[in-house]
Amino acid sequence: MKNIKKNTSLNFRCPICSSHKIMQRVSSVKQIWKTEIWVNYCKECKLYFLFPMPSKKQIKSYYENEYYIYNIWVRTLKEYFRYLRCKSQFEYLKANTLSELYENRCNILEVGAGDGMLLDLFNRAPNIHVNGTEYNSKARKIAQNKYNIRLEDKEFSDIEGKYDMILMSHVFEHFVDIKLVLRKTLELLKKDGFLFIELPNSPVITANKREIDAYLRTAHIYNFNIANLELLVKKRGFEVVCSDRFFYTTPIKISIENRKNLGNLLMSGKIEKIAIFPFVILFLINCIFHSTRAFTRLKDKTPWLGTGDTIRLILRKKQ
Ligand SMILES: [Zn+2]
Repeated sequence: MKNIKKNTSLNFRCPICSSHKIMQRVSSVKQIWKTEIWVNYCKECKLYFLFPMPSKKQIKSYYENEYYIYNIWVRTLKEYFRYLRCKSQFEYLKANTLSELYENRCNILEVGAGDGMLLDLFNRAPNIHVNGTEYNSKARKIAQNKYNIRLEDKEFSDIEGKYDMILMSHVFEHFVDIKLVLRKTLELLKKDGFLFIELPNSPVITANKREIDAYLRTAHIYNFNIANLELLVKKRGFEVVCSDRFFYTTPIKISIENRKNLGNLLMSGKIEKIAIFPFVILFLINCIFHSTRAFTRLKDKTPWLGTGDTIRLILRKKQ
């Protein structure tokens, strides 16, 4: 009996900090995987994680079949927002990695590169050689036709070669075995190589239950915050070069509630109230004049701002 109890509790250890202080079934994810999957929460490091984890087959089939059937206007707008995000990521990477990387011959890999929009910004530099993987065949076709970038349909574990920088934009939270992914990343990086991770910032468990449930209704296996993500990578052979939170730039000061509404509208097209439109217009005007400044760095103590509250980390392989 004792053994059974012990095994049961072992199943609910936090995958990052190994704590047993797990709140089980704080939420559930429906209509993404074939069955409903529960979300557990670690009280110690505040990580949300699925339990049980979806199988490899379920995951591959989800990404192969995922595609975006929007009308032309929504598609154009979404593309434009993605472009603004890519520009902002590109500037952030240029500012916080080595300028030599962009001058000397450099090899970059993006994992889950989508249609290749971010890689294209690097590809324009004469000395940068870009590589990428993507499960979705339609996205790979767009990358080839629009940007002339050939992406491979490869599992992360099957990637070979040595890279100066590896990019994972809204990808890392979708992996099941994150420790294996970090170990493989270390193997793929050259000495002093960089890893860039961007992913959404998650709410604390005391946030509004409706907002938490809405936030967790995605294909993310884990939902991180800056502290638990840093804890994970520091234990796994990386040093943190910089870590920041970003949100959509609003040229004037607006309330937390309105920022959340703005994020919801820009990320998922949800209109919570008409009064948000002046802020959307201000956001767009700012983007037209400053396409690299669509996102602003948030102060550490800013409360969680919902969808659009994003974490960026640049890591370096520890010597
Ligand atoms: Zn934990």
